[in-house]
Amino acid sequence: AGGNVVIVGGGVGGATTARYLKLANPDISVTVVEPKASYHTCFMSNEVLGGERTLEGIEVGYDGLKSMGITMVQDRAAGIDPDAKTVTTAGGETLSFDRCVVAPGISFVTDGIEGYDEAAQEKIPHAWQAGPQTALLRSQLEAMEDGGLVVIIAPPNPFRCPPGPYERASLIAHYLKAEKPKSKVMILDPKEKFSKQGLFTQAWKDLYGFGTDDSMIEWNTFSKVGAINKLDAAAMTVETDFESFDPAVINYIPPQKAGKIALNADLADDSGWCPVDKMTFESSKHAGVHVIGDAAIATAMPKSGYSANSQGKVTAAAIVAALSGKEMPQPSYVNTCYSIAGTDYGFSVAAVYRYNAEDNTIAGVKGAGGLTPVDASAEQRKREVAFAHSWYNNIRKDTWG
Ligand code: FAD
Repeated sequence: AGGNVVIVGGGVGGATTARYLKLANPDISVTVVEPKASYHTCFMSNEVLGGERTLEGIEVGYDGLKSMGITMVQDRAAGIDPDAKTVTTAGGETLSFDRCVVAPGISFVTDGIEGYDEAAQEKIPHAWQAGPQTALLRSQLEAMEDGGLVVIIAPPNPFRCPPGPYERASLIAHYLKAEKPKSKVMILDPKEKFSKQGLFTQAWKDLYGFGTDDSMIEWNTFSKVGAINKLDAAAMTVETDFESFDPAVINYIPPQKAGKIALNADLADDSGWCPVDKMTFESSKHAGVHVIGDAAIATAMPKSGYSANSQGKVTAAAIVAALSGKEMPQPSYVNTCYSIAGTDYGFSVAAVYRYNAEDNTIAGVKGAGGLTPVDASAEQRKREVAFAHSWYNNIRKDTWG
């Protein structure tokens, strides 16, 4: 027998779950609700900013899902009723489910800084959801004069893609070094340390003069420059407690929470993220509804596309088991985050995770992962870029078909 699964979101988590449900049991009816006609991957979007890839190069359609018999509803989910077991769409459709999977990604906290709101994003893009914002940020980089300053304001933890802001700084510097060498990238950071910091700072030393007076990249923490007080989109200024900056381009990446539909459907706790059973990703708040990807609290797993993909497979297995009355086997999870810092210069962090029933956590398996060494050879670093590109092609195919 099949069953009826409705998936909210056709991004990494949602699409992977849809495909793996169908692969496991073609009799399950799978419907994906997604407002966009096509998806732009955030992974490799920093290469678009650096000029190494086009926006079309990170776009993926839904024909692969449709060809497996998955129903795509091009609409926004407006409500989820866990008791009635229905999802309603903004267009007024009501979809019934036996199980629902919610994978809406992130939403942004836009209040708290003078001058910044959703309207300001038209001049101050976050580009933390790929698509038009990526194109806008790239066009601003192209339009700026040589000698201009690019300010990237990184978000506080936890947030989507922990190495992302630092890869972005690297690839923008890569572009500026070739095209506008008098320009600089300044990161303003609420954090005192960041993901793969040793590897990034080594790369910045090797490629962009980091640590010298002439560095193309500067990293300032809020403890040094003060917290952001005001962003003026018209004047293009950034004011912190102690300083003010006059950048040509501002990339403010706001603090984040689970996607709005997860918040509205009462799936999040006070942290703004969604607690789940770490074995099945079923919501701790509403039975029969699973939350995966960036929106979920997944203990040690970072908010990454590879994590969302891995969680999608486990969730598909959990749903297949639940719908057929079988026991769910003990899951394991995997994640690798590649970062590209410049020409032939890549590195990665990899981990395998196990579910721990005693305390409902997901923890790294000792000895099963690792980090590129800081003193890796030029050949190794070049190979990591090839691995990153090959990972990209594979994950796209594995997720959307
Ligand atoms: P998403 O992929 O964002 O999908 C959410 C989907 O839900 C969207 O398509 C959205 O339109 C839809 N949606 C939202 N609300 C609704 C609603 N109400 N109804 C219906 N649909 C809705 N990860 C890696 O693994 N490797 C990388 O190298 C990497 N690089 C990155 C670089 C950058 C610059 C950024 C920003 C991120 C990067 N990531 C990377 C992280 C990765 O993109 C995310 O972790 C991943 O997309 C999370 O998947 P998700 O399914 O939770 O959300």
